[in-house]
Order: sequence, then C-alpha cells, then structure tokens
Amino acid sequence: MIIFDKKKTKTILVTGGAGFLGSHLAERLIDAGHHVFCLDNLHTGRESNLDGLVESNRLTFVDHDLVDPLPSLPRFDEIYNLACPASPVHYQHDPVATLQVCSIGVQHVLERSKEDGAALFHTSTSEIYGDPEVHPQQEGYFGNVNPVGPRSCYDEGKRFAETLLTDFSKQHNVRLRMVRIFNTYGPRMLADDGRVVSNFIVQALEGRPITIYGDGSQTRSFCYVDDLIDGFLKVMAAGDEAEGPINLGNPNEITVGELAERIVAMTGSKSEIVRHPLPVDDPKRRRPDISRATELLGWVPKVPLAEGLAHTIEHFATPNARVPKEKELLSRV
Ligand code: NAD
Ligand code: UDP
Repeated sequence: MIIFDKKKTKTILVTGGAGFLGSHLAERLIDAGHHVFCLDNLHTGRESNLDGLVESNRLTFVDHDLVDPLPSLPRFDEIYNLACPASPVHYQHDPVATLQVCSIGVQHVLERSKEDGAALFHTSTSEIYGDPEVHPQQEGYFGNVNPVGPRSCYDEGKRFAETLLTDFSKQHNVRLRMVRIFNTYGPRMLADDGRVVSNFIVQALEGRPITIYGDGSQTRSFCYVDDLIDGFLKVMAAGDEAEGPINLGNPNEITVGELAERIVAMTGSKSEIVRHPLPVDDPKRRRPDISRATELLGWVPKVPLAEGLAHTIEHFATPNARVPKEKELLSRV
C-alpha cells in the first residue's frame, strides 16, 4: 500500500487535461499523491486518455470550455494551463476559438490563480519564434511571426498570452511559471492529429503513403513526452530564479525527410513517400537552446529519438490508438 503525506497532497487543476500532454501530466501528479481536476472541452482531447487514472479516486474530470467562466470548483494549490489545440490542423480549424482560449481562457486561469493564491504554470510554445532567423532559438530571441497568416491565431495567440500572463502576474502577485515547448511526441497523440510524428507512424503502420510537405529539408527537434513532463515538474517546483519563459525541448535536430526514413525503417513499412506542398509560413528550422533549463534546473532530455519512436510506434500499433477522434465522438452520442 502506498501512503501519502497528507500535508504534501495538493489539489491541482490541469486545463487541457484530457489531451496528449495534459493526460501524461495528470498521471504524474496523481502518481505523486495529488488530487487532479482535468478541465477539458474534448476538442482534441479524449476521455479515454484518462481511463487509467479513474481507479486512483484522485481524478475529477470537468467537461468545460475554458473560454466560458469557470464553474464552481474547490480551491486549487496549483494550476497548469494546457488548454489550446496544438496541431496546425486543429488550431486553424476554428482560428477565433484558438485566439479566445489564448486570451479569454488565460484571463480565467489568471483570475482563478489570484483568488486561490495558486501557483500558475503555462504552456507556451516555440511557435512564438515563428520562422526563426536565429538558430538555435534562445529565450531572448523575439521571433519572426506573420501576424495575419494561417498560423497566426496560434503564434500570436500564444504571444499575447505570454504578455497577459507576465503583466497580470506582476500586477496581482501571481506566482507564474511559463515554458516554451518545442515539438513533443509520444503515446496518446491523436492518430488524426496532423502532426508529423503521428502522421508518419500511422501512415507507415497502415501501409499508406508517407506525406512529406515540401522537399523534407525543413528541420524540427523532437522531445519525448516523459522528458518534457520531467521538465514541467522541475519548472513548477523551482524558485524565483525560474521566472520568465524557459525553453523545453530536445536539441537533437533532424530533417522531416530523415524522420520519414527512420519511421519507415523502424516499422518495416512498404509505404511509398509522396510530396505535398509546404504549408504557408511553415518554419524552415527549429531547435531549442536549452541552456537556461539546464543551468537553472539541471534539466536535460534523456530519451533518444530511436527509443521514443519505438514507444510511440508500439502505442499506435494497438488498433484502439488509431480510432479517429471523430469516430470516438460519434460512439459517445
Ligand atoms: P492536445 O491538443 O492534445 O491538448 C490540448 C487539450 O486542450 C485538448 O485536450 C483539448 O480538448 C483542450 N482544449 C482545447 N481548447 C479548449 C478549451 N477552449 N477549453 C477547454 N479545453 C480545451 O495538445 P498537446 O500537445 O497536449 O498540447 C498541450 C499544450 O501544450 C497546448 O497549450 C499547446 O499549445 C502546448 N504545446 C504543445 C506542444 C507539443 O509539441 N505537443 C508544443 C508546443 C506547445
Ligand atoms: N509535416 C509533413 N508531413 C506531415 C505533417 C507535417 O511533412 O504529414 C511537416 C510540416 O510541414 C512541418 C513539420 O513536418 O514542417 C512539423 O509539422 P508539425 O505539424 O508536426 O509541427 P509544427 O509545424 O507545428 O512544428
């Protein structure tokens, strides 16, 4: 039997808690003995991501859109704000809703943090650097973002959120921690999420063509989800020296073309590679400078790409993991 120290047990709100990262975070917090409220409107999250946590009796699911005023909930010690679609396909589907969750939604968690005296952790993104002209990207770089392109609802939404969070927390004395996440992958991404790792793995496993956008020379640096969540917990626990945005990601940079080849080889797939047009404003290079996280927190990602991809392929090899989100929704009606 595991006995938890009651004094250390916290009541924690995770917005976006039924999503990819949110469900992994909730699992780690529950494993540490805390009571977690996962608030989610199930836009890109799925309740089944939380199935394994129900038995703990320390999970409460709140079906709610963060853009609406928060319902009556207990006082929180900590709030982790993850609610926001993260894949280009999903955040561009309803750009105004994306901007609203990054502005009105963030205002709601800020007000709640102020009322409760809760520490607030926010998930920003490497997209605030846009199509970067500086490489690798460090926190002091201001970015190169198109304010009126197809990606702007997310990039500018997240930039606005950073400003609102920074100013509100200073004005109202909210303890704020904020991370800029670089491309992270792992089990529980949606099969029809549109992001490159899940797309390539699902295409390879199903023997469908692997869709490379552009010539495949654009780069990304992929972080495995367990490493990222370790980073979240370290940042939340850190002192005032951790104020201000902190990059979290794996600096191991790879082209999209190389990623496709590795996934084809690892799955033994017979899929052919096909080219599609490069999306507008698709960043050409992206790699985090993680010196700040390493120096302040001793954080370095540990899981090599081959190992992380193997776990993710194993996950998507189970047919349930590949049920498209739309179908799961229909089966709930
Ligand atoms: P995800 O789409 O799996 O999770 C987002 C969750 O937020 C989903 O469960 C979704 O249903 C929920 N949500 C969206 N709008 C909402 C609203 N209005 N009200 C309530 N819930 C809402 O994506 P993820 O990869 O888990 O991303 C989580 C957070 O991390 C996001 O804020 C994203 O911007 C950020 N991030 C992720 C990555 C990455 O590589 N995974 C990179 C940069 C930033
Ligand atoms: N990409 C691709 N094929 C796909 C999905 C994505 O070539 O099926 C490319 C995409 O154009 C981008 C990179 O992979 O250059 C990463 O895309 P993703 O949507 O995962 O993340 P983001 O662009 O937000 O970094």
